[in-house]
Amino acid sequence: MDFCLFCSIIDGSIPSAKVYEDEYVYAFRDINPQAPVHVLVVPKTHISNTNELNAENSVLVAKCFEAIPVIAAQEGLTNGYRVINNCGEDGGQTVKHLHFHILGGKKLSEQMV
Ligand code: AMP
Ligand code: ZN
Repeated sequence: MDFCLFCSIIDGSIPSAKVYEDEYVYAFRDINPQAPVHVLVVPKTHISNTNELNAENSVLVAKCFEAIPVIAAQEGLTNGYRVINNCGEDGGQTVKHLHFHILGGKKLSEQMV
């Protein structure tokens, strides 16, 4: 497989500010935060994006979403937050390893859903 930034973050060869880890999921602070809290939640197994999901690997999405409320509570997002997934060129995906952005810590714009 070609170099993957998030696989390198997961295996520790590139440093990150970890906020959560379990058997299936790794989460760390976005290097260019778009909100006071901006965390990226990724499956430890490489999946390029949402288009690569299927019946065999979709359990990893469930694992990410089980981690999200735990991380949100840990980050003090008691008043809510937004979860975003960018897929492909038009979706604005820049890192080709499936990830979910958690954004919060302020009232977010009502634009872009
Ligand atoms: P996306 O545009 O949805 O593919 O999101 C990729 C995100 O990864 C962007 O919000 C970047 O700021 C973030 N990012 C890129 N490199 C790093 C890094 N080394 N550590 C943490 N976040 C990163
Ligand atoms: Zn990867």
